[in-house]
Amino acid sequence: MTATPASPSSDKRVLLAAPRGYCAGVDRAVIAVEKALEQYGSPIYVRHEIVHNKYVVQTLEKKGAIFVDETAEVPEGSIVMFSAHGVAPTVHQEAAERRLATIDATCPLVTKVHKEAVRFANEDYDILLIGHEGHEEVIGTSGEAPDHITLVDGPDDVENVTVRDDSKVVWLSQTTLSVDETMETVDKLKEKFPKLISPPSDDICYATQNRQTAVKQMGAEADLVVVVGSKNSSNSVRLVEVALGAGAKDAHLVDFADEIDEAWLEGVSTVGVTSGASVPEVLVEGVLEWLAQRGFEDVEIVKAAEESITFSLPKELRRDLRAEAAALGENR
Ligand code: SF4
Repeated sequence: MTATPASPSSDKRVLLAAPRGYCAGVDRAVIAVEKALEQYGSPIYVRHEIVHNKYVVQTLEKKGAIFVDETAEVPEGSIVMFSAHGVAPTVHQEAAERRLATIDATCPLVTKVHKEAVRFANEDYDILLIGHEGHEEVIGTSGEAPDHITLVDGPDDVENVTVRDDSKVVWLSQTTLSVDETMETVDKLKEKFPKLISPPSDDICYATQNRQTAVKQMGAEADLVVVVGSKNSSNSVRLVEVALGAGAKDAHLVDFADEIDEAWLEGVSTVGVTSGASVPEVLVEGVLEWLAQRGFEDVEIVKAAEESITFSLPKELRRDLRAEAAALGENR
């Protein structure tokens, strides 16, 4: 099918979510790999995808990053970076045993959940961790207190949950879940364990929440929502679900514009566009261009929140960058 040019009376429009794309944790992790490559040279090993996005991973590979599944694959004495999703303490131990220099790019908001898990485990709570089985973040958080944590994978899993003492139970969650589904799970858990206590502050992070709020606002008006993101990106997959839940007639996840199926546009006048927290804006621009070529040139922003959060680089990297800057200063 060929692209349809826009007509002056076209009712075709795009609703573009704001905020969308990179969150502070992803931005920091990607910059950390780039700075590490500049500072130490190639290769820099990265355990697991630094963030769940195909394009980002491919781009960093071209610059000299090597992605591995396990620390055991990293040659002794090399530099390894841990991804934004966080790792269990056993992974730090393995790295130390292999004499690896580590750079920990775990998002500070994931670290916050790790610390909560450790604190509640030290106080001998049973911790009900709401999250998706097998997700890297859940594996990392569970590893902080394996004897105290039980995974609850959504509302349907609640009936299987047992605890040692129902007067000492707390729930925590993965940072990238659907806010509404998580609250449904929490409500069911509270019915079962009325003394269940909540985390001191939201575990689902600001970026996940804001992207879901924006997609909800556009959902009811959209015939189609295109979410830019990778299939292994939890927060991106949630955006598709939230869009459909908010009333969008159709919603799809694509890594790149060329994955959009022309057939999705049949009878469509309003297309919502958003992107997951690990998606660079260039990929959204590609989708907007693809849509514009098919008459969807009119773009309206649907703004749900302002974001100004930033995180400083991992401490190991900051230390070495500072040392190099100081050495350069002395040599001047
Ligand atoms: S989605 Fe949230 S928790 Fe995950 S890296 Fe981004 S800010 Fe951190």
